[in-house]
Amino acid sequence: MATDTLASPAVTGSGTTKIYKNFIDGEWVESSTGETFENRNPADTRDLVGIFQKSGKADVDTAIEAAQRAYVKWRMVPAPKRAEIVFRAAEMLLERKEQYARDMTREMGKVIKETRGDTQEAIDTAYYMAGEGRRMFGPTTPSELPNKFAMAVRNPLGVCAMITPWNFPMAIPSWKLLPAIVCGNTCVIKPAQDTPLSTYNLVQTLSDAGVPHGVINIVSGFGSKIGAPLMDHPLVRAISLTGSTEVGRIVGTAAAKNFKHCSLELGGKNPMIVLDDANLDLALDGGLWGGFGTTGQRCTATSRIIVQKGVYSEFVDRYVERAKKLKVGNGLDESVEMGPAVNEAQMKTDLDYVEIGKSEGAKLLCGGNRLDQGDYKYGWFLEPTVFGDVDPKMRIAQEEIFGPVVSIIPCDDLDQAIEIANDIDYGLSSALYTKDVNKAFRAMRDLYAGITYINAPTIGAEVHLPFGGVKATGNGHREGGIGAIDFYTEWKSIYVDYSDTLQRAQIDNAD
Ligand code: NAD
Repeated sequence: MATDTLASPAVTGSGTTKIYKNFIDGEWVESSTGETFENRNPADTRDLVGIFQKSGKADVDTAIEAAQRAYVKWRMVPAPKRAEIVFRAAEMLLERKEQYARDMTREMGKVIKETRGDTQEAIDTAYYMAGEGRRMFGPTTPSELPNKFAMAVRNPLGVCAMITPWNFPMAIPSWKLLPAIVCGNTCVIKPAQDTPLSTYNLVQTLSDAGVPHGVINIVSGFGSKIGAPLMDHPLVRAISLTGSTEVGRIVGTAAAKNFKHCSLELGGKNPMIVLDDANLDLALDGGLWGGFGTTGQRCTATSRIIVQKGVYSEFVDRYVERAKKLKVGNGLDESVEMGPAVNEAQMKTDLDYVEIGKSEGAKLLCGGNRLDQGDYKYGWFLEPTVFGDVDPKMRIAQEEIFGPVVSIIPCDDLDQAIEIANDIDYGLSSALYTKDVNKAFRAMRDLYAGITYINAPTIGAEVHLPFGGVKATGNGHREGGIGAIDFYTEWKSIYVDYSDTLQRAQIDNAD
């Protein structure tokens, strides 16, 4: 449930179910469609987390118009003052962390330690971006002419539209909203339909911290219905999507038609290489955490493990033995290590890929089934699944599954491992386990991905470094750190001539 002590975004419906409304211009309002949808706990679908608005175009238009009105004033608030509000929000999020983590586990299923981490990521981003309000540096540089001053400043863009996925339901909205507002933009966010509550919790806190009406607006609903009105609205200057590559293609195309700034953070199929000289215990810990953390539902999940032949058998035996022992269950139980799939459709996709793997000739070493006995029957639980002797060209080694299904691929040496790692449409994260510094540096140079870890799995990004990927993982922008400031501002170059004469720049002087 949303925290009752707050000005709650919900009103109580029949029984104890809360009905959450859209947040537009500082008011919680019902959708113009009169339609709603349910948010249920994937670990126990008898548990109704809340009812949310199934919005339509009119709601999107109202939110964008509110954001545009707010922009006129918000852009004039000095950046350090904007950032102070974000700092206050960080302090408040810290106080509310446990409640928000519990809400998040209920709505998306990942285990409580991880949802505390997801909330912490929003707190870290808030502290980082609060500091950015006093930086946002731009260059001052000598002019080519005497008595002339030259500099470049960062300006906000205007109204930004944000579309987010369900797997990091507070962290990802924070990566977008916080830099955007510190830079002076206003926002309309459409959270994923599986996990809207965590976005509500974040925005509620920002509002309580003092973000003025209209600066952040939430319109909940389905991307297929309100995606287009959000992206196509002429007042929207920038669109930021984190989601699948398939939806990224739709959003990128829509943005391009109207020359809108567009940041796309999309799918991944992340390789972890284990060489013969690796610390095998460490590689096993990393491979299990990277493969099954968040039930494999991370864009950076370690979904391919490429193991050198000298340690292949030992690694595979020990990996499978430990995967079988992972405790699967309701993430609110502190001892549980892996929660459910986020919804029935994702669970079915995972099971379909198990069949694809088997039919391709990969060796199913453990798992592959739905867990549906006892209390499991109320949720979307799967066994941790490992395929061995996987050919790098198989579909299970090429396509993003987004579930607890790991493919282990044998290799001869580092060169072949890098070739396999790179021979894929995606390029988000990558990892290498070795004790040889020369090999580590070769991999750091040659793995074609946005992120490379040495002696750590493919997951675990920190908020102050650029986050994003290459190839079908994105369109070249980065979230996190300075990458986010770059996206939510545009440069203006300014020349001040104090010579009191017409001075022609070199471009205009023929000699
Ligand atoms: P998704 O693409 O199905 O949905 C993402 C968002 O897009 C949702 O809010 C959805 O409602 C919206 N959407 C759907 N159709 C749309 C349309 N036609 N127009 C506009 N918006 C539309 O993804 P998901 O299932 O929520 O999340 C999982 C995916 O996200 C995976 O592919 C994962 O790799 C990716 N992801 C990437 C990163 C990253 O930073 N690279 C991080 C997390 C997740």
